[in-house]
Formats: sequence, C-alpha cells, structure tokens
Amino acid sequence: MAANDRCLFCRIANGEIPATKIWEDDDVIAFHDINPQAPSHVLVIPRKHISSLDDLNPADAGTVGTALVRVAQIARDLHLNGDGYRVVVNCGPHGGQSVDHLHFHLLGGRPMSWPPG
Ligand code: 5GP
Ligand code: ZN
Repeated sequence: MAANDRCLFCRIANGEIPATKIWEDDDVIAFHDINPQAPSHVLVIPRKHISSLDDLNPADAGTVGTALVRVAQIARDLHLNGDGYRVVVNCGPHGGQSVDHLHFHLLGGRPMSWPPG
C-alpha cells in the first residue's frame, strides 16, 4: 500500500513532518515519542501504511517481523535489554490507539506496572 498523505506517521516517514529519528531503512523507521511515557519511549513503524493490527493479513508477516526485530535491536542499542523493557501495540479505541498507522511502542528506563491502565 502506498504512503497515505493524510497519515501523520507516513508524513514523518517521508520527512514531511520532523521527528527525532534514531533508525531509518527501506522498511522501518524509529523515532522518539513526542510525549514520552518513560525515560526511553521510541516508536517503531513499518514504512508501509498499515492502519492497525486489525488490518494485518498474512502477506504482512515479513513487514511486521522485520519491524519487531528492529525493536529488539534498538532496545539493545539503547541498553534497555539488561533491565528489560516493554513493547506495546495499541489497537482501536479500547486499546488506546490514537494514530492509525501500525506502531510499536518501545518503553524502558523504569520498572513497568501490570496490569496496564
Ligand atoms: P497510540 O496512542 O496510537 O498507541 O500512539 C501514538 C503515539 O504517537 C503517542 O504516544 C503520541 O505521543 C505519539 N505522537 C503523536 N503525534 C506525534 C508526533 O507528531 N511526533 C511524535 N514523535 N510522536 C507523536
Ligand atoms: Zn501511515
């Protein structure tokens, strides 16, 4: 699917809207969340516009797998793996999703509580 020119994260991915990017390749972009909920809060997104987990189909397995492997690598790069970290994907209204472009939240640098709010 082509980039969606009304989608905030597609616009960040194509450089139209600035963000503090920490990784960028042909498949994946990672940048700091504008409203961090932990000392480290990075958003990792596929470059491909996929609206949510609910829109995934089997053909997206490679895209999503590549993004998740990158999440783990960024966690190592930021030295979050020693103490641990949390990865969150919000889906839909009850999940708390506010941007309709699939993204992984990588949160670290403090202990996380459970259950989530
Ligand atoms: P969601 O609520 O959809 O799971 O997560 C969307 C995330 O995007 C939120 O944590 C929010 O702070 C972040 N966000 C929203 N707008 C921007 C923006 O313009 N730049 C960046 N870097 N993050 C954003
Ligand atoms: Zn998008």
